[in-house]
Formats: sequence, structure tokens, C-alpha cells
Amino acid sequence: MTELSTNVTKLNGYLDRFRQGGIQNLIAGKSLPALSGEVFETLSPTDETVICSVARGGVADIDAAAQAAKEAFPAWRDMPALERKKILIRIAEGIEARAEEIAFCECWDTGQALRFMSKAALRGAENFRYFADQVTSARDGKNLQSPTLMNVTTRVPIGPVGVITPWNTPFMLSTWKIAPALASGCTVVHKPAEFSPLTARILAEIAHEAGLPPGVWNLVNGFGEDAGKRLTEHPAIKAIAFVGESSTGSRITKQGADTLKRMHLELGGKNPVVVFDDADLDRALDAVIFMIYSINGERCTSSSRLLVQDTIAEEFQAKLVERVNNIRVGHPLDPTTEIGPMIAQEHFDKVRSYFEIAKQDGATIAAGGERLGDSGYFVRPTLFTNANNKMRIAQEEIFGPVLTAITFNTEEEALEMANDTQYGLTGYVWTNDLTRALRFTNHLEAGMIWVNSENVRHLPTPFGGVKASGIGRDGGDWSFDFYMEQKHIGFALGQHKIPRLGA
Ligand code: NAD
Repeated sequence: MTELSTNVTKLNGYLDRFRQGGIQNLIAGKSLPALSGEVFETLSPTDETVICSVARGGVADIDAAAQAAKEAFPAWRDMPALERKKILIRIAEGIEARAEEIAFCECWDTGQALRFMSKAALRGAENFRYFADQVTSARDGKNLQSPTLMNVTTRVPIGPVGVITPWNTPFMLSTWKIAPALASGCTVVHKPAEFSPLTARILAEIAHEAGLPPGVWNLVNGFGEDAGKRLTEHPAIKAIAFVGESSTGSRITKQGADTLKRMHLELGGKNPVVVFDDADLDRALDAVIFMIYSINGERCTSSSRLLVQDTIAEEFQAKLVERVNNIRVGHPLDPTTEIGPMIAQEHFDKVRSYFEIAKQDGATIAAGGERLGDSGYFVRPTLFTNANNKMRIAQEEIFGPVLTAITFNTEEEALEMANDTQYGLTGYVWTNDLTRALRFTNHLEAGMIWVNSENVRHLPTPFGGVKASGIGRDGGDWSFDFYMEQKHIGFALGQHKIPRLGA
């Protein structure tokens, strides 16, 4: 038996319960069908078969979940921090205990390769452990003395919050949002992406098994236009943590305006990786390939625009072509697979449409540029060369294993091109000239920049973008700033003079 067939057998074991019972919502601790009785189907992108049916939550289900989150809020907020911390740690342990099930289901639901998803499941547990450690200090504040007052600040949880997540690495992203929300003392209504509902359900179950009180974490499946929209409009929901496309971020900001929602938006990117000729080119090559072709290229922080200095471009691109053609595309549960299928038919069509757009723009398809096989949403890893920064393939987020390479001559030219995009999530700079690295990163318009490195996430650092890539930051104390309100209390130190009117 090959490792793939062993994995497929295990997957079938994990999927049995979903195939039999479908996926229900979880509201106030109870598994429920959608109040309308409606369901939708989630498909596997690997063979286009139905995995299971999913409750299609709508306005009424979100209303019930928001009410449950509102009712559960005071007790969760007031639970002693150490108690809350213990529950979060038990959730982390629950994730670790079911890491294989989570990884396998995630791969089958999203098409992501197992080699990346097994780590993503464990990173989800790390998120809970990290924020569990902060629970006891989350409310700490300052003492800012003035001549007349002792001014004390503290932080209090904002209230019930909505979490709306996308389909790329959905498990990890859900934990990244929900762990700090719970650590802050907020209650949650989670609306996962319609394309990838499996692991959101497993995660919510783990949380309840870990002793999370009913109503603290509610899960409503459904589509953006009804369930998602209602969540952003619901008056009991005080903030929305959103991860998704920039255009959706803009839409939900409008939807949340009437109820003055606080919004945290993590949106799209068209991130540059800039390779100067003095860099360690072997390491740069590894990083360039990793940052666009891992996670199926369905990654907001992917380095989808390569800006390479003209003095080394030919040799660098030749090596790139060789490596890209060698990337193993295949079944997500095959441990040797490096790229799996695209998430869904419409996304598959979108990614492939850029093969034509590249030709029309006058770029060269140096590798890939076609689908692979007749079933499943597989594309060959693709490299466009002879491109310029004005082309659509250089400006639009393709969100697949597709890299656009552009050459530059001077540092100024590289900087101008790097910044010439609506997005500003990440940037990657490869040079051994320290002064240039400092100068370049100082002017690069991005929320996160790595020099001589791929993206290595460190949880205490701020994660987020500028321009159309988002508003707000996750990570470390920044997460608490979003889920909590600052509160100031002034205590009179004595009998200071109070202005007397009408005396
Ligand atoms: P999407 O915007 O289509 O959907 C994201 C979520 O929003 C889904 O749950 C969807 O149902 C919901 N939604 C859609 N319309 C809505 C509405 N009107 N009101 C409320 N909710 C609504 O994004 P996607 O295609 O699922 O994900 C891919 C995108 O996510 C890419 O642009 C990617 O760059 C971005 N992303 C960003 C980050 C980051 O940290 N910056 C991380 C991962 C993904």
C-alpha cells in the first residue's frame, strides 16, 4: 500500500460522519440545521465529487447566533482570566490530538497539499497557546498621574464579534482570529467560507469539548451575500474581523456603516520580491519559488511579482524555469505533492484566464500556462516573463501558482515598480548591501517586509497590510487592541477646584 492510499483510507474514515450527517451550524452549543432547512454542497477540488451537504445559514441563523453570543458575553467576559486560559489551552490540546484529521479534511476540502497543511493544523494550536499566555495580562493598563487625578487605563472586551474567513488555509486563519477574540473575553459568531466548511466545524467541536460555555463560539455556515452580510449588519455584533478579497472588504465596510462596526480587514496582495544582483542568488531562488508556489499560490502573502535586476535576470529566470517545471503537482494527500488543485471551478477558471491575458498583454509563458489532467482543478505551475509592471498579470491578484517576472535596471526603478500597485501587504528584498536594504525597506509601501528571507511568521509581530491590502494588525498585543476597548478612569487625588456655574 502506498502512503497515498493509506492516507485516502484514513481520509474516508474521517469523512464518514460528514457524508452521513452533513455539516450543521453550531449555535448556543447546539448542532442545528439551517432554520430554513436549506443546504448547499461542498465539493472536493481534487475529483469534483460532493463531500457532504452543509447547512445554508441565512439571516435568521445569524440572528440566533448573534443573540446567543450576546447572552453568553457577560459571563465569558467576567470569567476569571486563569479559567479562560485553561480552556484555551485545552482547545490547543484538542487541535493537536486531532491534527491529522484536521489536515486531511483541509486538504480534501481545499486542495492544499498535505506537506503544508499538517503544519497549518499545528500552527492553529500554537495560536491558541500563544494567546492563552496573554489572557492574564490582556486587561492591564497604565497609571498616568496628573496634578489632580490618578488616571488609570484598562482594556475591556468590545463584546460579541463576527469572524468572516476565506477558503485559503481556512483552519489556520480561523484560529488566528478566534483565539485572540476569546482571549480578550469576546464571544464569537464565525462565518467560514462556503468553499471550505469542514475544518471550521471540527474546530468549533474541539472548542466545545474543551469546556467552552455554550454561546461563546457560534458557527454559522452560509454564503457571503446573506449570512455574511447579516453578520456585518447585526446590531449586537460590535466588530468584524474579516479576511478576504479587497473588494469584499470594501463592501462589508459599507454594510457595517449603519451600526458603526469596528472593522479589521486583511485583504489581497500583489507582493513584490526584489532580487538585486549582489544577493545570495541560490537562497533567493529557493525563497522566490517557495513564496509563490507553496500553498497552491493561494496565499495573500505570496510573492507574485518577481522584480529581478537585469544583470542577472537571464540566468536567474533560466534556473527558475527549470525548477518550476520540476514542481510536483498531484493529489493533495500524496506526501510528495507540492501543488494540489485550485479550490473551485470558478477560481480555476479565473486563474486560467490569466494565461490568455498574459499572451494578449505580450508577455511570454516561460513555464506552465495550462491545466493538468481532465478532472480536478489542477493547473501547471506557471511563470510569465518579458512582462512589465503595467500589465494586468503584474497588477491583479491571480491567487494561484503563477509568477510574473519583470526586470529592472536601477534601485530607483525597482522601488517605483514595487510600489506601483493598489496593494501593500508584503515585500521581500534580496540584497547583501545593508544600506540599500535599509533605504529600500524604508520606502517600500507594505505592512510586512522580509530582507533575505521568505515570510517567516512570528506571532508577537504585527501582521497586516497597507493600501488596498487592509486596515488593522493582528499578532501580539495588536490583536487585543482590536478586540478590546481602551477605558480611562480618573480618580480625584484631593479637592481640586471644580469650575462653578450658576453659583
Ligand atoms: P472573499 O472576499 O470572496 O470571501 C471571504 C469571506 O467573505 C467568505 O467567507 C465569504 O463568504 C464572505 N463574504 C463574501 N461577500 C460578503 C459580504 N457581502 N458580506 C459579508 N461576507 C461576505 O475571499 P476569498 O475568495 O474567500 O479569499 C481569497 C482572498 O482572501 C484573496 O484576495 C486573498 O488575498 C485574501 N486573503 C488575505 C489574507 C490577509 O491576511 N491579508 C489572508 C488570506 C486571504
